[in-house]
Formats: sequence, structure tokens, C-alpha cells
Amino acid sequence: MGKRWVSLRMRAADREGRHRSGAERLVPLEHSRAAVLPLLERGWSALGAEPGRVFLTAEPIPEEQIRWVEALPARTVCVSCAQEGQQRAIEMLVDRCGVSPQAARSAVEWMRAGPNPSGGNMRGAMLLDRETGERLEEDPSRGVRVSCVDLDPASRARFDLWFQGGFPPTRFREAWTLAAKVATAETIVAELCWSDDPHYLPGYVASRTIGYVRFTVLKEAGNPFGGRAYFVDRSRFDRSALVAFLERAPVLVRLSDPSLIAEV
Ligand code: AMP
Repeated sequence: MGKRWVSLRMRAADREGRHRSGAERLVPLEHSRAAVLPLLERGWSALGAEPGRVFLTAEPIPEEQIRWVEALPARTVCVSCAQEGQQRAIEMLVDRCGVSPQAARSAVEWMRAGPNPSGGNMRGAMLLDRETGERLEEDPSRGVRVSCVDLDPASRARFDLWFQGGFPPTRFREAWTLAAKVATAETIVAELCWSDDPHYLPGYVASRTIGYVRFTVLKEAGNPFGGRAYFVDRSRFDRSALVAFLERAPVLVRLSDPSLIAEV
């Protein structure tokens, strides 16, 4: 029998069940106890003084089911303001990733105003037709939450050693890991993301062809909205297969060569 792994998921929600925070890990069984505590703390701190709940789910994953994927090369583009960052992100989606200008602009508009059609943020990502920008999620107020993915422990150690605890922030590591899984979904041609944290301004465009391109500013300071947009090729789109892959297929990301992320 192969090694035993555990998929861990955390979700914090307020009293009305509104999403406040989420996180996912895929760790060897022997690391799972230590991995739970930071998730729990993250959930509590997202709720702050608000009454609410933190849900933790742990699910065993047989090693044979795990698919290994290579990490994306990453680099940073410095921009001076959100307007410039959004303009350059749109250009990259259009010129390099096969997304139409209309679809790229529509993702930016949703993320600026809050991608949840009932107002505010979503728990998961939007699925957008890369040609028309049409929303394709089954439930657009929830979106698709990518789970069951992590950097494998040896790659994580390589990552930490390379950066010696300095830049980049944890947020980069987590988003770049998630993006590696998303980039392997054949029907997704590209991704756009920025945080819903009003104080965290960087964001990225990622795809199999361009890797992970981080922009120093993609949102206006103080804006509480953010999200993720996955642009899909409608001609090959099978929603239930894609959602099953993103939400449940176990994926470990391998960083064989840390110089891949030397320019981040
Ligand atoms: P964050 O970078 O954690 O601030 O997340 C920004 C937005 O991305 C969130 O508001 C969600 O809409 C979306 N998001 C966060 N985590 C995931 C995930 N694991 N899968 C899909 N979408 C996510």
C-alpha cells in the first residue's frame, strides 16, 4: 500500500452562513495534525469578533489517486496603480491566452463590483466563456472552489530554502500552487485573480502557456471585492467533469527547480 494522504478543508462562515474564509491542504497523514491547527486559527481570525462557525473536513486520499503536476514558472510585473495593472492583465489575457477583449473586461468588471450576483464576493471562482464572457457556473453565487491540492512536502522545503523565509508572502505560495492545478484543466485557457482583502493589492494572470504572472497592483486599496475568473473554451466544455476535477481530483504540485520562480 502507498503512503496515506489527507485532504483538509477549512471554511469559516458567519451566523447567516455567509462565507468568510476558506483554505485547503493535501498533506501526508503524519503531517495532518500539525496542519489542522493553522487552518483553525485562520478560520477564527477571519471571523474576528463576529459570531460564526469554522468547519473542518478531513478526508483520506490513497496515494494511487494523486496526480503530480509541475509548478508554473512565475514572474512579477511592476505597475504603478490598479488601472495600469488591470489594463496590462487584460492585454495579457487577450494577446497571449486567447481570451476575447469582451470576456477579459467582463471578468474585471465582475471582480471590481463583487462577482456574486446577489452582491459581494464568492466562495469559489467564476467560470467565464473565453469568447463571450458569459458566466457558466451552475450556482453563480457560490462558484467553483478548487480543493485537494498542495505543494508536495519536498517541494515546499525547496521553496522555503530558496526564499529563506523572505519574500514572497504565503499568499503567493498558496495562489501559485492552486494555479498549477487549474492550469492543467484542459478546457481552462487562463485565469485572472485578485484578493477580496481590501489591503492586499497584487493579483495574477496564469495559464499553461504564460505561467504565473504576478502584477504588483491589480485592485484599488480599500476595495473589499475580489475573485477568480477561469476562462473556458466552450467547444470542449463539460461542466460536471471540470467541476469534479477542480473540486475533488487530488493533485500535488512539484517544484523541481526553484529557479522557475526566481523572478517573482
Ligand atoms: P483570496 O485570494 O483568498 O482573497 O481569494 C480571492 C477570491 O478567489 C475569493 O473571494 C474567492 O472568490 C476565490 N477563491 C479563493 N480560494 C479559492 C479556491 N480554492 N478555489 C476557487 N476560488 C477561490
